[in-house]
Amino acid sequence: MGHGSPLFRRYGSEGIPRHGRKPGDLFVNQMSSWYEPSGIKTLACLARYSAVLSRFPSSLASRIKSPPRRHCRPSLLPLLEHEPLVGISFKSEVVQLTMVKTMVILGAGPGGIPAAHYLLKHTAPRVAGGIKVVIVAPNTHLFWCFAAVRAILPDMLADDKVFVPIAPAFAKYPSEQYEIVLGKAEKVDPGSNTVQVTGNDGSSRAIPYDELIVATGSTFKEDMPFKTIANTDTTKQALHTWQQRIKNAKSIVIAGGGFTGVEVAGELGQEYASTGLKEITLIVSDDLPFDPKYAASVREAAKRTLEGLKVKVITNAKVQNSSSSSSSTAITLLSRGKTSTLEADLFLPTYGIKPNTSFLPDSMLDERGFVNQTKYLQAQGHDNIWVVGDAGNLQDPTGKNTDEQVVHLVKILEARLVENSKDLPEYKPDPKIMMGVSIGRNKGTGQMGGWKVWSLLIWFAKGRYLGTNHAQDFVAGTRTMTVQKNWGQ
Ligand SMILES: Cc1cc2nc3c(=O)[nH]c(=O)nc-3n(C[C@H](O)[C@H](O)[C@H](O)COP(=O)(O)OP(=O)(O)OC[C@H]3O[C@@H](n4cnc5c(N)ncnc54)[C@H](O)[C@@H]3O)c2cc1C
Repeated sequence: MGHGSPLFRRYGSEGIPRHGRKPGDLFVNQMSSWYEPSGIKTLACLARYSAVLSRFPSSLASRIKSPPRRHCRPSLLPLLEHEPLVGISFKSEVVQLTMVKTMVILGAGPGGIPAAHYLLKHTAPRVAGGIKVVIVAPNTHLFWCFAAVRAILPDMLADDKVFVPIAPAFAKYPSEQYEIVLGKAEKVDPGSNTVQVTGNDGSSRAIPYDELIVATGSTFKEDMPFKTIANTDTTKQALHTWQQRIKNAKSIVIAGGGFTGVEVAGELGQEYASTGLKEITLIVSDDLPFDPKYAASVREAAKRTLEGLKVKVITNAKVQNSSSSSSSTAITLLSRGKTSTLEADLFLPTYGIKPNTSFLPDSMLDERGFVNQTKYLQAQGHDNIWVVGDAGNLQDPTGKNTDEQVVHLVKILEARLVENSKDLPEYKPDPKIMMGVSIGRNKGTGQMGGWKVWSLLIWFAKGRYLGTNHAQDFVAGTRTMTVQKNWGQ
């Protein structure tokens, strides 16, 4: 029997009322404890109501009474509203009943979705007592952000290529095993193992968890629609607004020499600069695009390819500020100690992501706001809080790293929940550089270890579709970015 439940610890002293209890009786209460009254071997177990019912023959299940609310502490009632906990007293004819574990996953992005599928498909049947997966996220659809650099241009990608509905992909699982809560985590209280959630409809709810997976990722500064903003509708609207702005502008300045900046500049360059329709400029803070940890040949290839598409690349410059009027934007640049001003119809910032972690206690976060993530993918100091993806600080925030973390986390969770092992497998980040950046629809550059990857290969593996050809399967759970078979199918 699991003694790990917060509710067990917190409310266990409440006691099953002794009066009126007869040997062999089944009754339902809000508490749980081992129970050995004299002469009768009785067990009391904590379990989710629905799971209890499904585990008993219908003749017994019909004898389980609903929770006697008069015995509940008022403070406990909201939790029972969510999912009644039951204590069951029964004779030794039923030997063991273990509690259903509630796994709450915060975030339905490239981290949260594959984790949920794997747990439901592979882990749930192997955990004694079963598990219930609760996904909490404000987005009804997965925004396939890998293609946002193309989708932000008008008439390039239809909405249904980049927004894939999530709920239908989970309908194949038994309804009592999962729940999708449309809302945002507002506060995690590790003391009571509870997440406070505000629903998209404004409702408020406390969700208790046995294990919590934080996969809330990151957002772009200035609310650029490169990631989900607020919810799916808001993100779609923002994307449409930017498409219109791009359509109307004759000159566009993109700030940021990271992957997103280069990919957006490449798309705009191919569509508009190379055809002479618009002036496209990219501002890069170093003397070449990308972080200096990447090979100079790769960084040079990116700059050369952009220039081949007639994108003007301004290097060693940082945007200090920008101010917009109704018709144009003035961008102040700082370059080698000197400031200058650039005028453009449209300014498109691509720098600066911030982690979505404000709902976590400060003690869990590093100075930049990312979760201090251990090599077991736990939040430091919390053995039932797990972190994958952009929200954690173990690796750079990339989809590849997110995917590798998810693939490993499900192994850790199986060791913990199925095998009850204390010896969890350590996550060893792959130190090899692996990156591919598409530049326009036909070209790109990348690096594998110390090798520069051919442009043609990047086009074939990435630039052709920007992964939109896999988005449906990804959401359906049949694959992850790196695992192509037998994931959640
Ligand atoms: C334009 C672009 C292109 C990219 N291209 C590549 C690429 O080619 N290769 C690569 O490896 N990586 C790429 N990345 C990086 C990759 O997209 C991220 O690393 C990946 O999305 C991280 O996944 P995640 O699940 O951790 O977070 P996110 O994708 O940020 O998803 C977070 C989820 O959490 C939800 N959420 C946020 N706040 C809360 C809250 N308080 N409560 C509940 N839910 C919440 C969000 O709605 C969302 O569902 C790209 C990123 C961008 C923006």
